[in-house]
Amino acid sequence: MKITILGAGVIGVTSAYYLAKAGHEVTVLDRQPGPALETSFANAGEISPGYASPWAAPGIPQKAIKWLFMKHAPLIIRPMADAATWRWMMAMLSNCTSARYATNKGRMVRLAEYSRDCLIALREETGIAYDHRTQGTLQLFRTQKQLDGIGKDVEVLRADGVPYEVLDPAGCIKAEPGLARVKDRIVGGLRLPNDETGDCFKFTNSLQDHAEALGVTFRYGVDIRGLKLMGDRIAGVMTADGFVQSDLFVAALGSYTPAMLKPLGLTAPIYPVKGYSITVPIVDESRAPISTIMDETYKIAITRLGDRIRVGGMAEIAGFNDDLPQARRATLSHSVEDLFGGAGDQSKATFWSGLRPMTPDGTPIIGATRFSNLYVNSGHGTLGWTMACGSGRVLADLISGREPEIETADLGLARY
Ligand SMILES: Cc1cc2nc3c(=O)[nH]c(=O)nc-3n(C[C@H](O)[C@H](O)[C@H](O)COP(=O)(O)OP(=O)(O)OC[C@H]3O[C@@H](n4cnc5c(N)ncnc54)[C@H](O)[C@@H]3O)c2cc1C
Repeated sequence: MKITILGAGVIGVTSAYYLAKAGHEVTVLDRQPGPALETSFANAGEISPGYASPWAAPGIPQKAIKWLFMKHAPLIIRPMADAATWRWMMAMLSNCTSARYATNKGRMVRLAEYSRDCLIALREETGIAYDHRTQGTLQLFRTQKQLDGIGKDVEVLRADGVPYEVLDPAGCIKAEPGLARVKDRIVGGLRLPNDETGDCFKFTNSLQDHAEALGVTFRYGVDIRGLKLMGDRIAGVMTADGFVQSDLFVAALGSYTPAMLKPLGLTAPIYPVKGYSITVPIVDESRAPISTIMDETYKIAITRLGDRIRVGGMAEIAGFNDDLPQARRATLSHSVEDLFGGAGDQSKATFWSGLRPMTPDGTPIIGATRFSNLYVNSGHGTLGWTMACGSGRVLADLISGREPEIETADLGLARY
C-alpha cells in the first residue's frame, strides 16, 4: 500500500520504519530541512517506562499552586484568555482522580514497556547508535518528605513487575559517583535499572537512513497546508509544493496535529506544553553524571549523552510560543550546577525549547479515525522518545491488518 506520513519527528520516522518493514511504500513529508528538528530535537533523553505516568494525578492541583510560586518552578502558566487552553486544562484536571490516574497510567506503562522492548530489538537488528546507555535512571530526593512519598509509586512498580531499588545516599553515590560532593543534599533515591537513555535526534536521523534503505522517501522543506476530503476518504495532502496522493495517510505532526484534523471535523485534544533544555559539553568526566538523574525538587532531568550533559524539564502553558527566557535557562543551569558542579562548561551550553504534544490523559492517540484511510500517531507528550518504537510498531500492525502484540483498543481517538 502507498502510505504518506505527515511529520518527520521521532514518531513519524519510527512509523515510517515499521511500515516499510511491513512491506508498504512509504513517503514522509516535513516542513523542516531534516528529521527531528522540532520537539524531537533536544529532549531530556530518557527512555523511561518505569516513570511512565500521566501528569494529571491526584494531588497535582494542590502541588501546581505551590509550584507557581517557586523560584525555580517546574510549572509556569502564562496569563492568557485563550478558550482552548482553559478547555485543555479543565480536561487535564478532570483526569486527576485516583480512578482515572490508574487507567491512564496502566495504558502508558503498557505502551512504554512494549516500546522499550521494541527499541532493544531494533537496536539488535540494525546496530543503530545514538549515544545510548543502558544504566537505569535515578529519581533523586532532597527531602525526607519526598522519600516518604514514594510508597504509591513503588506499589505501582511492584504491581507492574518493574524492577526498582530504593537507595540511601550511599547507594545513590554508588550509582552516580558524581554526586559524592553533594552527599549532604541527598536524602535518598529510587533507581529503575531497566530504564535507558539516548539522544533522540541522533536516533531519528540514523533511523531515517535505515528507513531509506528499506525504500522510504523523505521529502523535506514541504509545508503541509491541509488534507483534502472526498466522501469518507482522504483524497490527498495539499502542500506548498502541490497535491500528494496516497492510499493511506498518517498524521504524526506532534503539537500541530489538531490543527490539521480540525477542518475534517476531528478533535484531537493535544496541547503544546512547552519545555526547555540546555546541552552542556563535559569538561570534567569525574564530576559528570553516568545516566539520568531526575531531580525531584525541580522536576528536571539531567542526562549523560556521550560527551555532553542534557538538562531538560519545566512545563509551561503558553500556547505556541518559542521564546527562550533567560530565567528558564538559569533554572536548568542551577539544577545541574547544584548537583554536578564543574562537570560541564556552562559558557558553551546551548539553550532550546520544545512543545510537548500533550493529551489531557497523558496517553498518546494511536490508530484509525472515522475516515477509512486516515490514521493518527500523535500526542505523546512527555514520553514521545520513550514510546516512539512501540507506537510505530503498533501503528504498522494496525494498518497492515496484523494483531498488535499489546492491547490497543483504548489508545485511539475514539476514547474522546
Ligand atoms: C524539554 C523536553 C524534554 C523531554 N524529555 C523527554 C524524555 O526525556 N523522554 C521522552 O520520552 N520524551 C521526552 N520529551 C517528549 C518528546 O520529545 C516528544 O514527545 C516527542 O519528541 C514528540 O515527537 P513527535 O514526532 O510527535 O513531534 P515532533 O518531533 O514535533 O515532530 C512533528 C513534525 O511535524 C512537522 N510538522 C508540523 N506541522 C507541519 C506542517 N504544517 N507541515 C509540515 N511539517 C509539519 C514538524 O516539522 C515536526 O518535524 C521531552 C520534550 C521536551 C519539550
